[in-house]
Amino acid sequence: MATALFPGSFDPVTKGHESIVKKALPMFDKIIVAIGENTSKKTMFSLQMRKKWLQDTFKDYDNVEIDSYNCLTTDYCKLKDVRFILRGIRDTADFQYEKNISDINTVLDSSIETVFLLADKEESTISSSFVREMLLFGKDVKAFIPDKVVITDKDICRQ
Ligand code: ADP
Repeated sequence: MATALFPGSFDPVTKGHESIVKKALPMFDKIIVAIGENTSKKTMFSLQMRKKWLQDTFKDYDNVEIDSYNCLTTDYCKLKDVRFILRGIRDTADFQYEKNISDINTVLDSSIETVFLLADKEESTISSSFVREMLLFGKDVKAFIPDKVVITDKDICRQ
């Protein structure tokens, strides 16, 4: 029974993230989409909202679990008995970044394998940071976020 962990900030979830999970579903029995809280990144949206949007996005998929964790990703994998980490790649910058993380994770736990899936052309320019920028300027982001997700101005954490 192969389970994959798809870790990320999901600040917020985009059509790009949704597509990577959907593309990986035939490869795994189960996918855990989990928000890593251990980064020093300041987020635009609360953990609660980011989790809710992930739940909304994948509510029709019994084999997608939504969670969050505040330890090292490799330690979370051990906790959940997961051997595969799923990551998406849009371009060479993503590849370099993702390869570094994968190499570090291998040093931390050699039993973990990272599986990379390429973004489809339609989603290869979408990023959470682009969505955040659009929201800050009051633009409609419907085209870039999953159909089941609704983000309003009041969801933005302003502190
Ligand atoms: P992180 O903060 O860990 O980079 P993100 O939420 O930004 O988390 O991204 C999680 C994963 O999704 C990463 O592997 C990232 O490369 C991938 N990803 C982000 N946007 C897209 C997209 N448009 N298409 C495919 N993969 C994507």
